[in-house]
Amino acid sequence: MDYKKIILKPKKEESLRRFHPWIFSGAVARKDNNLYEGEVVDVYTSTNEFIAAGHYQVGSIEVRVLSFEERKIDFSFWKEKISIAYNLRKAIGVVSLVNNAYRLIHGEGDNLPGLIVDIYGDTAVMQSHSAGMHEARMEIKDALQAVLGESLQNIYYKSETTLPYKADLGAENDYILGGKDVSDIAVENNLQFHADWLKGQKTGFFVDQRENRALLERYAKDRNVLNMFCYTGGFSFYAMRGGAALVHSVDSSAKAVMLTNKNVELNFPEDSRHTAFAEDAFKYLAKTDNGKYDLIVLDPPAFAKHRGAVKNALQGYKRLNAAAMEKIDKGGILFTFSCSQVISKDMFRLAVFSAAAMTGRSVKILHQLTQPADHPVNIYHPEGEYLKGLVLYVE
Ligand code: SAH
Repeated sequence: MDYKKIILKPKKEESLRRFHPWIFSGAVARKDNNLYEGEVVDVYTSTNEFIAAGHYQVGSIEVRVLSFEERKIDFSFWKEKISIAYNLRKAIGVVSLVNNAYRLIHGEGDNLPGLIVDIYGDTAVMQSHSAGMHEARMEIKDALQAVLGESLQNIYYKSETTLPYKADLGAENDYILGGKDVSDIAVENNLQFHADWLKGQKTGFFVDQRENRALLERYAKDRNVLNMFCYTGGFSFYAMRGGAALVHSVDSSAKAVMLTNKNVELNFPEDSRHTAFAEDAFKYLAKTDNGKYDLIVLDPPAFAKHRGAVKNALQGYKRLNAAAMEKIDKGGILFTFSCSQVISKDMFRLAVFSAAAMTGRSVKILHQLTQPADHPVNIYHPEGEYLKGLVLYVE
């Protein structure tokens, strides 16, 4: 192709032969002059063999691979990748009348490193995590329209805070399609919610907890539920549909508490079983009476965002889980999660084990949870696995 070139050092193509989608700067021997961040480059081995094409970026990851075949990265490329992703979502059953909120593009998991697209009804919220995806956004927009057709009316582009800071790309959060009379109400497993992509975190709602919420619903009957780190209240309205006796939602953000109240109200108007509190999780648990709750959800934000923070994060998970296990009623059920990508499943389990040992209570693992199928893990990119959870029975 006519793209500029990057030549690798000898033997540095090995991970690419195993389809890993990142090329680190240490693997690069030479590159063409005047490469700009975000442009497509062709990557060659030290023996001058084409090995991959991808987006060039400045930093420790220098190329994020889009294709292992030599081809043009154009509208038809985006259309092909997006239709593969859409077909997968249809195959797993998340595109329906009772569920129209799902992740359509999950970065490396869909062979599109640096791109996230979440769908809420007829609106797509699109997020670039690389300059390359930002540069390609209008072509991607056209491809999304070509694949989704009339079912897509609005695209909100939201990359102000997700692009690498070094790239002064002038990305403003705004609609790049539609934007008039947009409904922010979407449906998950036949429950409604407002997705606040304009002001909320990430794309406005955490679609990655859909299946875990459904599991919680099965356990909620007659229980006193504490939904800690509730954000927009997802676990709370499932607990209510499951027949919980009482549901308390807690988040340190007053805005999250407001969103939770709004969403609970949308599904269960004037239902006195629910109350939300704007409070810090640790403080709330510290003053909670023993045995007040017999179903607790702990879904905190990522305690570790990079490797250097792992040790402190593990301490945090241990403290938090110990506090909940201390207070949960006999026969209680604890749903506990970590969404830190740098914390492995084993590390998390060890932290929860240490928490249990601190309290001395008898604890059994009922379920081991992960991210749902619309957040697929590319088998060649195990780093894509980030959400883990345990459902525990505490005697
Ligand atoms: N469970 C939610 C997602 C949680 S996101 C869902 O299903 O959608 C993490 C939430 O934790 C955020 O809303 C954030 O405001 C809240 N949070 C962060 N630190 C907190 C703390 N110390 N105490 C309580 N909430 C906190």
